[in-house]
Amino acid sequence: MKAMRVVDLHCHTTASDGTYTPTELVKAARSIGLAAVAITDHDTVSGHEEALRAGVDEKIEVVPGIEFSTSSGGTVHILGYYVDHNSEKLVNATNWIIHERDDRNEKICALMQADGLDISYPEMKARYGDVIGRPHFAVMLVRLGIAADVQDAFRRYMNKGERYFIRRRFLPLIQTITVIRQAGGVPVLAHPFQYQRDDEGLRALIRECMDLGLLGMECCYSGYTPEQQEYLEALADEHGLIKTGGSDFHGTNKKHIRLGTGINGTLSVPYEMLEKLKETHAQLERWV
Ligand code: AMP
Ligand code: FE
Ligand code: FE
Ligand code: ZN
Repeated sequence: MKAMRVVDLHCHTTASDGTYTPTELVKAARSIGLAAVAITDHDTVSGHEEALRAGVDEKIEVVPGIEFSTSSGGTVHILGYYVDHNSEKLVNATNWIIHERDDRNEKICALMQADGLDISYPEMKARYGDVIGRPHFAVMLVRLGIAADVQDAFRRYMNKGERYFIRRRFLPLIQTITVIRQAGGVPVLAHPFQYQRDDEGLRALIRECMDLGLLGMECCYSGYTPEQQEYLEALADEHGLIKTGGSDFHGTNKKHIRLGTGINGTLSVPYEMLEKLKETHAQLERWV
């Protein structure tokens, strides 16, 4: 019997808040036998070129993607697959987000400095790159001996309502989906159970997103039970959305999540999902 070909379509690298470089991610994917891996960093495509090059070197299929945090009532995450990283509209959008992050992050640094912590934003940018998020602050708190590990740092300092939490501004849902389509990408609703919505609420969200140009939904995700996955797949089929899946791998910033296999080895994303994603992308006309 031929083993099923599996993929991971949701991974973060050092280009955002993961701890593997794009090359390390691609090598790791290859070494565990994945048939393909997607790079979906938060708010940036800066890892694409390195990841695609590593894919050629390592002889493994690499899918260029992105993950946006958007606001629509609450927070909603939208993945964009096969976005053109040279798209001017996409670059403008990611630059706006990085600027918003910088504003928020400078305020977090000021709070930490006022508490006497030895922290400098320019140094963080030099160490971690353009897209700095709360996980980087969590790592700094661990380095400074304030927290035991990243989870502890989030729980006590970085989560909403805690001492060093400051809200940042998101790109609205409509602009997010539009810019993905303008960059020739396939917009996909990420981890649908993360939004505390019941069946009715989720259906309303799907309709809202589809009216704006959504084409797919993430149905396999770390920690989702087979029943949850079946429910999402039925929902996607019913709406004519393509189905995707991925682990949301972040390296040691989310220690419990394994590349490809998720939590406790329960994730398995069939290559057929990527096949459909590629078909959809191939038929897509770029919005102007
Ligand atoms: P930010 O967008 O900078 O406000 O940070 C949000 C990011 O923090 C998300 O994309 C998650 O990947 C990450 N995150 C949230 N909670 C945790 C946690 N408990 N441990 C590690 N990473 C987390
Ligand atoms: Fe993240
Ligand atoms: Fe997400
Ligand atoms: Zn993610």
